[in-house]
Formats: sequence, C-alpha cells, structure tokens
Amino acid sequence: KEIFDINKVRKSFPILNQNVNGKPLIYLDNAASAQKPDAVIQSISDYYCNDNSNVHRGAHSLGDRATAAFEGARECVRNFINAKSTKEIIWTGGTTEAINLVASGLTASLKAGDEIIVSRMEHHANIVPWQMLAERTGAILKVIEINEAGELLEGAFDQLLTERTKIVAVTQVSNVLGTINPVKEIIEKAKAVDALTLIDGAQAVPHFLVDVQALDCDFFVFSSHKLFGPTGIGVLYGKEERLNALPPYQGGGEMIERVTFEKTTFNELPYKFEAGTPPISEAIGLAKAIEYFAAFDRPSIELYEQNLLSTANSMVSSIPGMRIIGNAANKVPVMSFMIDGLHPSDIGTLLDQQGIAIRTGHHCAMPLMDFYGLPGTARASFAFYNTQSEVEKLFEGLQKIQRLFT
Ligand code: PMP
Repeated sequence: KEIFDINKVRKSFPILNQNVNGKPLIYLDNAASAQKPDAVIQSISDYYCNDNSNVHRGAHSLGDRATAAFEGARECVRNFINAKSTKEIIWTGGTTEAINLVASGLTASLKAGDEIIVSRMEHHANIVPWQMLAERTGAILKVIEINEAGELLEGAFDQLLTERTKIVAVTQVSNVLGTINPVKEIIEKAKAVDALTLIDGAQAVPHFLVDVQALDCDFFVFSSHKLFGPTGIGVLYGKEERLNALPPYQGGGEMIERVTFEKTTFNELPYKFEAGTPPISEAIGLAKAIEYFAAFDRPSIELYEQNLLSTANSMVSSIPGMRIIGNAANKVPVMSFMIDGLHPSDIGTLLDQQGIAIRTGHHCAMPLMDFYGLPGTARASFAFYNTQSEVEKLFEGLQKIQRLFT
C-alpha cells in the first residue's frame, strides 16, 4: 500500500490549487460532492481521445475496447464492496436513482398495511421514494427516532419492527451529522422478520471500507461523485436473487433479450436494469477513482480524517456561541454547526469571501432539521486531502465573521 503523503495527495487534485475571492481555496463541502484526482480526469479524457464508442454492440475494435473498460469498471466496483458477482452491480445515475429503482420495483410486492422503516436522519433520497411507494400500495412509513447527539435511539428500531415490516431502509452515515449507524445490527434484526434491507452508503464509502457480504444487506447504494469519481453515475448493489425478483425499472435497448410486438423478454443481470446507452466514461472514471483511493492504506486515511475532526472539535470553544449539531460517539469528519446570532447562510457567504467552501441549509434532510428545530445548519465536511491548517483557517474565518457582527 502507498504511504499517505498529504503533499503528494493534494498535488493530485488539480482543483485545490486555486484562489477563490483572492484567497487559497479551502474546500470543505466534500459531503455534497468530492473533488477528482487527475488520474480520474485523465482517464475520462483518454477514453474520449482513444476508445469512445458504444458498448456491447460488437463489430469493431473501439467498441470492444470501450466494452472491456466499461465491464472492467464493474468488476472494480464489485471488488471494492466485495459483492459476490458483477451481476449484482447495476449502474444507475446515482444514489437517488438506485433507491428509486428498488422502491419502484417493490410496488407489486407490497400491500396495504405493510410497513417500511426509515430513520429520522435520512436524506430525502431515502425518504421520498419510500413515501411514494407507500402511497401507491397503502403501506405505512415508520421512523426510527434519534437522540440529541444524533444517534438512533436505543431500542427504537426493535419497537418498530413487526411481522408487517417488509422493508428497512437506513443510511450507514448521516450526511448532516456524520453519525455512523450500527447497520449490521439493524440488518440482522430486519432479517429475523424477513424484511428487505437497503443501506444508503453515499456518505460511508468515501470514509471507510464496506463489505456487502459481511453486512449481508439486500441492497446497498452509493454515488460516484462523493467518492472522488465523476457525476452522473452511481451504483446499486443487490443480492442476485433479490435483483432477479425485481421487475425492470425502465424499458429500452440493452435491457431486452427478445422484442416482438406481442411480448418482450428481458436480458439477464445486470443488463436487465440498464436500459439505453449507459454512462460509459463515468464508469471508467469511477473505477479510476476507486483504484486511486484503494492504493492507500485505509486505516491511515481514517486516522488522518479523525485527526482533522478532533482538531475541529477542540477549536469549537474558541468561537463563543458555537455549537455542533450531531455529537455521536462514532462519526465521520462532518461538522454541522450553528453560531448564536448568525444565520447559517450568512456564515456560508462570508466564509466564501475568504475562499472557504462549506454548505448551508437543510442538506436535503428536512425531517432531521425539524427534530432540532432548525431551518438549516452550516456544515463543514472534510476529505482526506484537507489539512490541519485548513481546519485552523476555518476557525480563523469564523472568528473574523463573529468580529464583524459584534
Ligand atoms: N443519501 C445520502 C446520505 C446523501 O448524502 C446523498 C447526497 N447528498 C444522497 C443520498 C443522494 O445522492 P445523489 O444526489 O448523488 O443521488
């Protein structure tokens, strides 16, 4: 494994080397979308310069090369999350589309009175598709509540779980709070009542290794763009027998075996769920991102990130009236915060003037904002290419803003 060298890492992310509003860019909005190493950018450019062609259409060399790279990317993702087979790796437009695909496909399996369980801290992408499914079928949406620290309430899930529970869809990591949820335990309990499990891994995969066979979930979803890969592509992992049981999501080319006007038969996995020309360069770019990321010793990256978070936590007291939203014992380096007398969106705008990029607002988690009684928060989210000095500059920036307002 490659030794983690922060200077070398930063040099491989070209976008980081720029001034914004006259100040060196400090990018702390990684939970919204992460930056791409030059190897990823180069791989996409190389593909269009050398191999661009449609896939699975045979007949010429470019097509063969594109297909080999595209299917090689699928194998790379399979290996990354330790799925059994590439049949279980479906390309989607992102986490959102992956969840919609599953929720849509389960329509015929649900009846009135069946129950779907989500948690209070879900992203809208893991709420709304289930709500729509509930409306179509008469199923009921139930919610695992949380404590002030932003952790799932002890025992709450056990109380919700019944023989009527058909689906349990929870996030592995909260995009707002950074909380890491005990999903393995949740999956185990859900299986005991034969409920299907879907884990939203969008905020997990950029921070720690995930093994879908060890988790034993039915479905696992994530987006490339938060994992240092391109936008426009994401992954739906599903156990082969679960995917086989789902109807196709969209109809069109590629997803068919034989089409007549009387009857169409569908292609085998994974193609059954991939109607139309797929995101080819995006898959190649995502594989490159995983390859780049996998070269490092993961525990040292995790430790490095946790140190960034500890530094941030230790500096909170330097800002009077600052409080962290989400103090889970087990969390990734995401820091949502409020400062007395300052609106989150003003914090965001004034930090941007100092070249510091954070996100403000409800973070697509309105039910979670309701729990805290907040319209939104300011959120700094760190990646392994951020530095201790950037964390310090964030707090210097906040001090400046506070001086301005008092
Ligand atoms: N789930 C979580 C936990 C997320 O953080 C996000 C992105 N903010 C999504 C789902 C949706 O991902 P995408 O917009 O890439 O589909």
